Amino acid sequence: MRQILCQYVFSSLLKSTMRSHTYIDSLGSARMMAQVLDGKALAKDVKDELKTKIQNWVNLGHRAPSLRCIIVGDDPASHTYVRNKIAAAKYVGIDAETIKYDVNMSEVALIEAINALNADDEVDGILVQLPVPQSMDERKVCNTVAPEKDVDGFHIINVGQLSLDMPTIVPATALAVIEMLKRFKIETFGRDAVVVGRSKNVGMPIAMMLHSDKKHDSGLGMDATVTICHRYTPKEKLDFYCRNADIIVTATGIPSLIKADMVKPGATVIDVGITRVTDEVGNTKLVGDVDYEEVKKIAGAITPVPGGVGPMTVAMLMHNTFQAAQNLRDKNLQ
Ligand code: ADP
Repeated sequence: MRQILCQYVFSSLLKSTMRSHTYIDSLGSARMMAQVLDGKALAKDVKDELKTKIQNWVNLGHRAPSLRCIIVGDDPASHTYVRNKIAAAKYVGIDAETIKYDVNMSEVALIEAINALNADDEVDGILVQLPVPQSMDERKVCNTVAPEKDVDGFHIINVGQLSLDMPTIVPATALAVIEMLKRFKIETFGRDAVVVGRSKNVGMPIAMMLHSDKKHDSGLGMDATVTICHRYTPKEKLDFYCRNADIIVTATGIPSLIKADMVKPGATVIDVGITRVTDEVGNTKLVGDVDYEEVKKIAGAITPVPGGVGPMTVAMLMHNTFQAAQNLRDKNLQ
């Protein structure tokens, strides 16, 4: 028994050693530093793989997959996101275009524009950059995009299929988190996970895949035991659940919400939050939900912001667009 225990402790130590590197703390002791899960490098790999697959698809005689990004209004952050998506699309060989509308566009006109793209056989993927202007009903807009062209995975049918563990188009940020856990070989089977944030586009689909059964049709289940925390989770409970977790995924947009004393040594911390903050001298920078420098000294693995989940989200959107192109081909074959 003691021998088994020793072996277990040794192999756990070995695993965390492989994942981390050491640093010397202020008292001169050697400590482990988390493995940084480099989303930017991984996104490049994913896009390169996709580029090859798309090239093969085109070589078989198909036209290049196509994506249309609709943006209403002039929110600078939204325009930056769309520019990044278009650049990634071009890189992998997707024919991509931005369709810009004035902030005063009516909901009826937007719905007409989406319906025209739905009916266009030359268009595989459609996304409407959120948020739409306040005058519009976001749910109605998302439900207008044809489910098989809905590369954001926000249509009620795609959300329903995801909830039933059926193959579907999964929201790109959630898919990015799952893909990172898989590719960095973070064990989730039977582990405790906490998702901080319960938004329908991010926190909910992440929790949905983390808890579900890998053997089900989607193949995306991660078999973890999942706790979902949100704005009404009392602070002491948030601390308690996070401290117990082997995997923390946070998506709140609150800088430094997750502090080092909330993290179990060796845990994996995935930071989905992206907030632009301004320092005392007026410089702006992007930060996540995690107190990165401190948590890095406790966690076993951690995603940086920027350069973590963000670039992988864009890569997974390209994956979804290629999937939409294949969906359309299958539909036309029927
Ligand atoms: P996104 O769509 O990017 O996930 P939202 O702003 O829609 O972002 O969602 C933020 C989420 O963060 C909400 O689910 C909210 O309940 C959660 N949240 C906000 N404050 C806290 C907090 N103090 N502790 C835990 N979760 C929080």
